[in-house]
Amino acid sequence: MSTLALPRRSEIIRAHQAHGGRIAAVLPIHYPRALLRAFDILPVEVWGPPRIDPSPGAAHLQPYVCSLVRNALAFLLAGELDVADVVIVPHTCDSLQGFASILVDFIQPKQPVLPIYLPRGNRPSDLEFLANEFRALYRALAAITHCTPADAELLASNAREEHADDLLAELHRRRNELAMTQLELYRLIRSREYLPAEMFIEIVGATLHGYSAQGDHPGSPRQNVPIILSGIVPEPMVIFDALAEMRAVVIADDLASCGRRLYPRGTSADPFVRMAERILNAPPDSTRGGAIPERLEHLARLVATTNAKGIVFYDVKFCEPELFYLPTLRQGLQARHIPSTVIEFDLNDAFSQQARTRVEAFIEMLG
Ligand code: SF4
Repeated sequence: MSTLALPRRSEIIRAHQAHGGRIAAVLPIHYPRALLRAFDILPVEVWGPPRIDPSPGAAHLQPYVCSLVRNALAFLLAGELDVADVVIVPHTCDSLQGFASILVDFIQPKQPVLPIYLPRGNRPSDLEFLANEFRALYRALAAITHCTPADAELLASNAREEHADDLLAELHRRRNELAMTQLELYRLIRSREYLPAEMFIEIVGATLHGYSAQGDHPGSPRQNVPIILSGIVPEPMVIFDALAEMRAVVIADDLASCGRRLYPRGTSADPFVRMAERILNAPPDSTRGGAIPERLEHLARLVATTNAKGIVFYDVKFCEPELFYLPTLRQGLQARHIPSTVIEFDLNDAFSQQARTRVEAFIEMLG
């Protein structure tokens, strides 16, 4: 099936509401989807969105706050999140923590705003901390919905999300076999941001079943220069078409919105611990305080296993967690003879000629 047939967010939201379900607007990056779904709340993620008028949001924020947060605030102030029954804000970075504070202390939207604090490590105490955060979120959602799903329901919801994430990982792994453009592939990957898990399972299952290796196609690494794309979110999505025109292909990614959310299955019989395990055992992420050597090893492994020729760090301007890592990370990559380049962008910009020229020069150098 063509990924172009993906349902739109608005359709999904309307369909979920039509059977009495609630909607959560969820800010980036990590949160327990299974917990929300156990309350019949559909998480719909808010990555900006790009290309909107950011000025209403800008009035409340310092000029050095990233465009993702600026746009999210403008979007909310314009009433575009009114469809949501609850707003969930993970403590991903100082900018999103500031966003949550502005909402709670000043703007006071009509929906409850629920923050989630994420630990910056992966020790047993971090696991317990995150499990307790999810228990607190459970209590808050129970108060809002007057529902109290039992452990068995939470585990069943978790099992469904694990199945969806297994397929997501397979989609990432088998990307070279799929006769679809990179833009189509990433639209499908990013549909995890709003599709209910069961629908994602159906669509991705059919896609993986329907395609098998059939020789060279538009995204084949045999015809293109394979690269790793790192950063937070690939916007504007036309970057994938631009890369294809440059005869480059994203052979794997280290994007916080995509590859860093390949959550492995959990093992605990406690649903809250299991949800926490999955997030803490995901690939290292700047926003969860992953150690620099750990991120370096992860990137080097991605390069080695995919034969990527280099890494493009494609980062949102003023994204502190990402910028903090880059100098040391790139030094480490250089020591391993892995070329990299850094491009910064604003969510409201088109893919600029300047960015195109820089990426093109990098790809030519790799080729
Ligand atoms: S782009 Fe960076 S600074 Fe902005 S919300 Fe995401 S992690 Fe935080």
